[in-house]
Amino acid sequence: METLTEMREVQNYINGRFEHNGQDSMEVISPLTGEVISTLPLSGTAELDQAVQAAQAAFKEWSGQTLKERVQVFFRYRTLLEKHRDELAELCHIENGKTVEESYAEVDKSIELCEFAVSLPQIVTNEVQEVSKGVECRTERKPLGVVASISPFNFPNMVPHWTMPNALALGNCMILKPSEMVPLSAMRMAELLTEAGLPQGVFNIINGGKGTVEAICDHPGIEAVSFVGSTNVAKIVYARASQNLKRCVALGGAKNHLIVLPDAHLEMTASNVVASMSGCAGQRCMAAAVMVGVDKVQHIIDRMVEVAKSIVPGENLGSVISAEAKARIEGYITAAEEAGATILMDGRNATVEGSEGGFYVGPTIIDHVTPDMSVAKEEIFGPVISIIRAKDLDEAIEIENSSAYGNAAAVFTQSGGLAKQVMERASAGMIGVNIGVPVPREPFSFGGWNESKFGVGDITGKSSIEFWTQNKKTTSKWNAEARTNWMS
Ligand code: NAD
Repeated sequence: METLTEMREVQNYINGRFEHNGQDSMEVISPLTGEVISTLPLSGTAELDQAVQAAQAAFKEWSGQTLKERVQVFFRYRTLLEKHRDELAELCHIENGKTVEESYAEVDKSIELCEFAVSLPQIVTNEVQEVSKGVECRTERKPLGVVASISPFNFPNMVPHWTMPNALALGNCMILKPSEMVPLSAMRMAELLTEAGLPQGVFNIINGGKGTVEAICDHPGIEAVSFVGSTNVAKIVYARASQNLKRCVALGGAKNHLIVLPDAHLEMTASNVVASMSGCAGQRCMAAAVMVGVDKVQHIIDRMVEVAKSIVPGENLGSVISAEAKARIEGYITAAEEAGATILMDGRNATVEGSEGGFYVGPTIIDHVTPDMSVAKEEIFGPVISIIRAKDLDEAIEIENSSAYGNAAAVFTQSGGLAKQVMERASAGMIGVNIGVPVPREPFSFGGWNESKFGVGDITGKSSIEFWTQNKKTTSKWNAEARTNWMS
């Protein structure tokens, strides 16, 4: 069996120091081999409180700097991410199980997110206008104070970078709560931020699970909570943080529909659909989950099966996150089979020679799925695509619209008119035209609809500026002769 290097013990990062605290602990397991690679503290209110106090103490000086001064840290940090790219990708690979290539792509995306943060002074220019002669109104964006970011297991490096660079550059101090399944990447982030010159207390990490998240939602010193994870937990976090009068945006799960029309480009469509459903072992909130094949698309399905044969667990397909996840995914495939669907490609019982303890599921294509089956409705979060056949585009769009989720939807066609219909009528926040993973890149913003997101605005790009700031409005006049009205 492949043996992984034992990783350092996971610690909280409070006020620029790693701390041995937390009431209890749990094991961190690498899904590549099933080996225990570290232990993690399960923090509660006391540890969180220390971090919030450190962040509150740092806030005055950090928020007092200009935006142009603050982003200097992120110019240096971006360079450090690039310098340590190999090591960061390796960490991501070991703790999450995605392939080395996917791990590099994840780190590169974090670098791109930092590039947006360093551009904020060019975008956040505030507003000023002479509203009547001698009277001026101005609007300035001000940070909120101490904010929290709670992240999922599937992007240990990238998802924390969705929030951290923008929130900090805009003058906030942050408590990050990484997923307890992948806590290692965040510790390196903290070290590199410190090396880049981030003052102590501006960025803190609190590790743990459910109890830690509840403490974050309840803590009176935290002004805003951003959450990325499953829909059930997103609802709990959104309700609890809002109940405690915090600003909250909570991104949830997904069930993305790809509508494939018979005129679609054969190679591009087959390779895009398969890449979308199998990339990161299907553990992406933007992954293809359902393909709605309209009318005569058998030739495309046949080609998809051929393409999927080249995807091999342990080679160009990573592991899923845990033994429970593997069992859940395989359970969905069995349920579809029992409900009468056709398994064109079966990823159950996949093993990787030399890593027999790892949690692998092979690419799975299920045809003749009907909308009532669990594989059609529920989030599977594995390398599985369910094909539903539709007679025409109207029926395909109805199927897409009936999903409770609404993260992404895509259409594959060579007809601009038909693509436009999907763009207009799909009930999802992010639409792809001949693109299987339609992630909007900065300055555009990332966020879904329906049960894929709770709260106003999106989490990245320009929309995040609104989330991480509040407006201060000043009206002023400096001469007695100013032409005023009843308000001034
Ligand atoms: P998860 O909801 O289990 O965990 C997310 C975070 O919530 C973790 O930090 C975890 O510690 C915490 N948590 C778990 N259970 C909790 C509970 N009962 N109460 C309070 N906190 C709790 O999600 P996951 O399994 O880590 O990640 C996969 C999910 O995230 C999938 O559903 C995926 O679609 C979703 N996701 C969504 C997006 C998006 O942009 N919409 C992006 C990435 C992942």
